[in-house]
Amino acid sequence: MSILVYTESENGSFKKIAHEAVSYAKGIADMMGTSVTALAVNANDTSELGKFGASKVLEVSNDKLNNFNAEAYADVIAQAAKQEDAQVVVLTSSANSKFMAPLVAVNLEAGYVPNVTELPSSSSPFTVKHSVFTNKAFSNTEINTNVKIVGLGKNAFGIKENETSATTEAFSPTLSEDDFSTEVVSVDKATDKVTIADAEIVVSAGRGLKGPENWGMIEELAETLGAATACSKPVSDMGWRPHSEHVGQTGKPVASNLYIAIGISGAIQHLAGINASKTKVVINNDPEAPFFKAADYGIVGDAFEVVPQLVEKLKEF
Ligand code: FAD
Repeated sequence: MSILVYTESENGSFKKIAHEAVSYAKGIADMMGTSVTALAVNANDTSELGKFGASKVLEVSNDKLNNFNAEAYADVIAQAAKQEDAQVVVLTSSANSKFMAPLVAVNLEAGYVPNVTELPSSSSPFTVKHSVFTNKAFSNTEINTNVKIVGLGKNAFGIKENETSATTEAFSPTLSEDDFSTEVVSVDKATDKVTIADAEIVVSAGRGLKGPENWGMIEELAETLGAATACSKPVSDMGWRPHSEHVGQTGKPVASNLYIAIGISGAIQHLAGINASKTKVVINNDPEAPFFKAADYGIVGDAFEVVPQLVEKLKEF
């Protein structure tokens, strides 16, 4: 019996969410009196996984898995779960994980819950809290199947160091033609900028910026902080910014550590998509703007004065 955690990597390096997922799996393992097995696919160096609580690392090395393929990856995870007799499989809630999780669930005849925010409140029945309706509510759900699959929400649990001595083992899953009914032959990044999904910090701006010509200071602030840029819906509707930057209920969800909203009123549809962010900072010249009620820190002021000063100060560090 064990807890299996799939550790996402890109170009051989683990993503931060992989460390978070191992930390979370260790929390479940401690609750259930078992240990964590981490599954790593084509990762360069898996030694770091022991730091977060993995006792064993299954290393898969297979060129056919260089590009993510939901069917093949789901099959690999299911085979590892069977080999390890996993009671719980921990995935993340990344786009790739959400794509393949139902396939893993079918293969293992397991119940699956995405967007999980906390450790299970009890192991029997196995009850997990997860966000629903684009983070507007939480649901507590029991998973009643023998094998349980949880998709951990980004930034929901945090990274917890839990030094464990991990053994490594090569794992060679059997891959068939069925696993490659579709095959990604290449992936070309549209931009080298930090993406909203991966960003620790998101700098977002709204109609208060008056026009697309004023985004230079937003880009500069984002660059200074190593942040992704985002915008409110009307801004992308008017073509001031690309649709890929639209965040909110009908746009991309944001679960960053820091979300800076500049000249955005804080409409319910905007907040619905960004309220999973840990710390929210609002810059708005209207002290009555609804966003201030949802903010951790607020600056009442003109963005055209505040943002350049902020950039200047940040550049001193
Ligand atoms: P505004 O509401 O115009 O607010 C601009 C803000 O800028 C104001 O608070 C103003 O005080 C401030 N401001 C003005 N000048 C300055 C200055 N110089 N310095 C600082 N602050 C200044 N919206 C989304 O964002 N995402 C969504 O996913 C989304 N989905 C929607 C779905 C539906 C079904 C509907 C009906 C609406 C949706 N909307 C969404 C739209 C949403 O209701 C709001 O209309 C929108 O979020 C407002 O955008 P905004 O805050 O940029 O603009």
